[in-house]
Amino acid sequence: MSKNPPSPADGYRGRFAPSPTGPLHAGSLVAALGSWLDARKNGGKWLLRMEDLDTPRCVPGAVQVIQSQLLACGLFWDEEPSHQSSRQEGYHNALVELAKQKLLYPCTCSRQMIANTLAFLHIQTPRNQEMVYPGTCRPRAADMHDCHQWDAKVAWRIALPKDCHIQFEDGILGPQEQDLWREVGDFVLRRSDGVFTYQLAVVVDDALQGITHIVRGADLLSNTARQIFLQRQLGYITPHYKHLPLVLDEHGEKLSKQTLAMQIQTRNPEDVLMELRKAGQHLGLQDLPDGDTTTVAEWLLAATQAWHL
Ligand code: GLU
Ligand code: ZN
Repeated sequence: MSKNPPSPADGYRGRFAPSPTGPLHAGSLVAALGSWLDARKNGGKWLLRMEDLDTPRCVPGAVQVIQSQLLACGLFWDEEPSHQSSRQEGYHNALVELAKQKLLYPCTCSRQMIANTLAFLHIQTPRNQEMVYPGTCRPRAADMHDCHQWDAKVAWRIALPKDCHIQFEDGILGPQEQDLWREVGDFVLRRSDGVFTYQLAVVVDDALQGITHIVRGADLLSNTARQIFLQRQLGYITPHYKHLPLVLDEHGEKLSKQTLAMQIQTRNPEDVLMELRKAGQHLGLQDLPDGDTTTVAEWLLAATQAWHL
């Protein structure tokens, strides 16, 4: 993108950013509906971005399925949908910028090596949490002045400053904080297979697309501090954040394509309304039209008026 990104003065710009690894399920519909309602309530724009960088996980045809599901649900987007796979240049430029600030270093550790080092240091990783990178390759940071090593099969990590305590206000959950140094460690921005990571790509896209409000599932809350840190290093504004309550299955686990969550049913308006009603209920929306003759458009209008998160 060569033209100037939209600025906050252009007003509310929100987005829904699914990874096309399969059709939308009840959990992703909640994120889509919540972000759409928040944008519409605020008279804003709602953009659709396909986060398709991790190509082995992307499923052919999923982009079209997701788009037709959204359309069936009346969740129309503004502007052309974007695809991260065609925006590599922006991510590369951001990486160069961080390299100039001497904030990057190459890392050759495998997951097993990291696990061994953590065990040696008696650092335990709680279940469902990522390993805190112990900084093994950090001494190399000093060697790294330009980017001609970038073709090598190494991962690139950010060197966090020691005091890296990020605080932010979540519009739903209230004040949040994370000590990146202790809770995350130097994280990867480009993997050894050359793929830019979600943390980098999402920050670059949110900035270049002028996103002012991010409304997404609470499963992403633990990423937000990393993203705010990157925004600050890259001189981007930090958008407003709202993290929506997660949809859990009967075992209390997050719904995901990995747990084979059922795709939402959108074959006819009755199915669509049922899915929307479930998602709306999950978002705490009350007193919405429940009659058989309600149309999707009527329901969405009432939901927009009722939106209060
Ligand atoms: N692509 C991410 C996901 O599907 C969401 C990214 C975001 O909303 O920040 O989980
Ligand atoms: Zn390493």
